Amino acid sequence: MVTVKSVDPRSLAEKAGLQAGDILISVNENEIRDVLDYRYYITERYLSLLVHRGPALLTFQIKKGEYDDLGLNFETYLMDKKHTCRNKCIFCFIDQNPHGMRDTIYFKDDDSRLSFLLGNYITLTNLSDADIDRIIKMRLTFSDFFKNLAGISSHTSQLSSHSSQLP
Ligand code: SF4
Repeated sequence: MVTVKSVDPRSLAEKAGLQAGDILISVNENEIRDVLDYRYYITERYLSLLVHRGPALLTFQIKKGEYDDLGLNFETYLMDKKHTCRNKCIFCFIDQNPHGMRDTIYFKDDDSRLSFLLGNYITLTNLSDADIDRIIKMRLTFSDFFKNLAGISSHTSQLSSHSSQLP
C-alpha cells in the first residue's frame, strides 16, 4: 500500500474522487507496493482501485485509455525504500570516493525497479524470491534482462577501469 501525496487537477483520478492522503491498497486486486506494481497495473483500460481513507475502505472504478496516466502523485519516485547493494567488493569504487562530497555520491544503489524503469546498473545479487516471482509474473521481457546485463557489463568494465587505476 502506498500513500497518495497529491492528485493532479482535472485528472482521471480527481474525476473519480481520489484525494491526497488516500492510501492505495490495490489495483484490480493486485497489491501495490511500489512504482513497478503501480505503473504495471494501471495500464489496463478498466481499473478498480481499493483505497483506505481514514477508517473507510473505498473502491473507485476508472475507465480510461490503455496506458493513460491517472494523475496520482506519491512521496517518492519509487513509492518505496531504495534497494542498496549487498556486495562487499574490496575494490568498490564508491568506497574509494574522497570524503566530503554530497551524500548521493556514497549511495550504492542496486535496485531492480530503477534498472527496469531508468536503466540503472544492478548486480542481480540482492533479488528476493518475491522479486524474481514478480519479474516472471510481469513477463518483463528479455530485452530488459539484456539491458540489465549490459548494465552489469558496463558496471564491470567501470570497476575494471577503476581497479586498473589503483597503485
Ligand atoms: S557491486 Fe558495485 S557498489 Fe556494490 S560493493 Fe561492488 S563495486 Fe561497490
